[in-house]
Amino acid sequence: MEEVKINLQDKDNMENLYPVIDSHIHLLDYTEFQLEIILENASKANVKHIMNNCCVEQDFIKIQSILKKYKDNFILNSYGLHPWWLNQRSPNWLQNLREYLEKDPNSQVGEIGLDQLKYEQTSKEEQIDILEKQLELGIELDRVISVHCVRAQPEMQKVFKKYFKDPKQKPVNIIMHSYSGNKEMTKGYLKLHANIYFSLSQGIIRKPEFLQVIPLDNILVESDGPHQLCEKEVQESGLFSEKDFLVNQNHLLPKLGKINEPKFCHALIEFLAKLHNKSRQEITLIVYNNSLKAFRLIK
Ligand SMILES: [Zn+2]
Repeated sequence: MEEVKINLQDKDNMENLYPVIDSHIHLLDYTEFQLEIILENASKANVKHIMNNCCVEQDFIKIQSILKKYKDNFILNSYGLHPWWLNQRSPNWLQNLREYLEKDPNSQVGEIGLDQLKYEQTSKEEQIDILEKQLELGIELDRVISVHCVRAQPEMQKVFKKYFKDPKQKPVNIIMHSYSGNKEMTKGYLKLHANIYFSLSQGIIRKPEFLQVIPLDNILVESDGPHQLCEKEVQESGLFSEKDFLVNQNHLLPKLGKINEPKFCHALIEFLAKLHNKSRQEITLIVYNNSLKAFRLIK
């Protein structure tokens, strides 16, 4: 695999930030007005690609109008059913999902997964069943798969062991979104016959102990925008100040004062650089190359 050449300029202003890929975002959760701003900010901040995730079937059609506006694979899209809203699926959901994935060969599967906090709404067994069907489709169509897992790591590993054990099978690229599993879990994932990538969101800055056993070559960064903003931690990177945050006026996020966006991935890079006692330039190269491999942007 070729190493990516990057024009590295060690300046801290936004126009000269190093390239980064936002591994997980929800573009449909922004207002149209916000979306224009955050995508412009992203390109100014040298965010090369952003990986959008769908949550419910209705999103599949909605995202098309956004995708049309941006060319050159700047936005890569994932189709899938998120464990929080499984009860909104239609009887034809699986066929519907297949059609969208087949229509766009560059698309991925996501976000799919398990969430213990929603077992009352959709039982564990049902969540597992739907997860397995989506995994099978992703494997069949040879796609990258983005996974949500909250308080269900042992169940997730059990499912993964079923699908990712055959060394003769082509390894699937799996993105564990907003990952914060413990050491034992991380080791378990790394043993699977799959290319597992751990995508970090800003919350990880508060619990660096989770990062001890994750090899740097398996790390990605994400905003999960517009959600999961850790304003204090982003500011502590020294790269952003109060004026860099957009105030939320979105009815979908009534509790948030400010919104997350792709450009804040640089704060995570800075945090990783400090944690590993490396330069931001070194970490950028590692994470950027990881992202290109994870999302198959280089062959
Ligand atoms: Zn998500």
